[in-house]
Amino acid sequence: MTLTEPVAAAAPLLDGPALWPAQAHLPTVLGRQVVIARGEGSYVMTTDGRRLFDGTAGLWHANVGHAHPVLAEAARRQMLTLETYHIFARFVNDQALALGERLAAIAPIARPKVILNSGGSDAIDVACKLARRHWQLAGRPDKTIILSREFSYHGLHAYGTSIAGLDMNREGYGTDSLVPETARVPLHDADQVAKVIAEHGAERIAAIVTEPIQGTGGVNPPHDGYLTELQELCRQHDILFVLDEVITGFGRTGQMFAAQRYGLDPDLITFAKGVTSGYAPLGGVLVAPRVWEAFYRDSPDTPVFRHGATYAGHATACAVALAHLDLLEAERLVPRVAELEGRLRTELDALAARQPGVAEVRVAGFLGGVALVDEIAATDVADDLIELGFVSRPLRGNTLQLSPPFITTDAELAAFVAAVDQAVSARL
Ligand code: PLP
Repeated sequence: MTLTEPVAAAAPLLDGPALWPAQAHLPTVLGRQVVIARGEGSYVMTTDGRRLFDGTAGLWHANVGHAHPVLAEAARRQMLTLETYHIFARFVNDQALALGERLAAIAPIARPKVILNSGGSDAIDVACKLARRHWQLAGRPDKTIILSREFSYHGLHAYGTSIAGLDMNREGYGTDSLVPETARVPLHDADQVAKVIAEHGAERIAAIVTEPIQGTGGVNPPHDGYLTELQELCRQHDILFVLDEVITGFGRTGQMFAAQRYGLDPDLITFAKGVTSGYAPLGGVLVAPRVWEAFYRDSPDTPVFRHGATYAGHATACAVALAHLDLLEAERLVPRVAELEGRLRTELDALAARQPGVAEVRVAGFLGGVALVDEIAATDVADDLIELGFVSRPLRGNTLQLSPPFITTDAELAAFVAAVDQAVSARL
């Protein structure tokens, strides 16, 4: 075997700040980073004085907009009372306990337990570990395979990296995946999923993990009935059904959870971003009785679920989440999303009809994907949109992400879509 020369061995080193940014091709990014220093409602301000409409709500998280004084005050008050105390063994903090009750009351799972941690990737790790542990305790230790859909994104911790349907995120981390025994199923075809289950053998499969609406994979809403069929296959074959609601949870689909929109009854739901609108790092898993019961038996032999971290259920994050849930209710933001979905659909259908640079538009909830024709790169259009004062994001499938905050006005949405139109036209 010959060792290959590193491609860039002779190239000079890049200069730049000490901070190593995530998911960035550094030769492309350094020297042209957009530095955000301030936020105000649906807008973010750069250090060089630009004001940008946040057309993606950051990474699908800033649902109530930026720099909300009520949430800042909730954090301040909690920090002055108790910044946090771990939820570990005998200790819990009162904010995490209160949030658990609040989430259990609105969860689309009956009698759930709530595991809290610090983000979506964490939540996926927990859900996958819990699924495997569930079957081991049920006397079926061979049920370990985790299935997920092609083009799916489930964060970048070990399980999320391993089960992702976006292969580039696994590159260089090993020959198969970080976590063994994972496999992909097709995006929309339940018959094909049944075939994959048969190939591996249902007796080897622990769980199917799916986003109800794929986000990073290009904003791919489920085909009619697909998620119900997937859930049905899970029931038939004794496979846990795990819904990754990290993007869709807390209102993005016009319902509190996408499980409600699509009439689903999952065994586990992962959540993060929208639980605090990003005002504090927080995530977690809603767990159905079928899964938690084995850990709640009143017996010395009852097993422990060996998972936990210092910042899981961080008290300040939980206090912010509670204030945030109040805000969603008080400002009726979830019903507003249902209206915004209609607006977005009308705007994007009209765009698709008049703009030859648009190949397809996809909408579900207040989530839009604008797929461009091959001749135009979504990355270029996203760059141009920044110059026009709008944040968008290129996703897989040459698709632009449109998912603004829930407080967006009809006029702002129209202006955003008009800017997309203008930017696409300029590249034609
Ligand atoms: N799952 C889905 C569906 C996501 O979109 C994301 C992040 O975008 C994650 C999990 C990971 O969440 P986090 O970035 O908070 O770790």
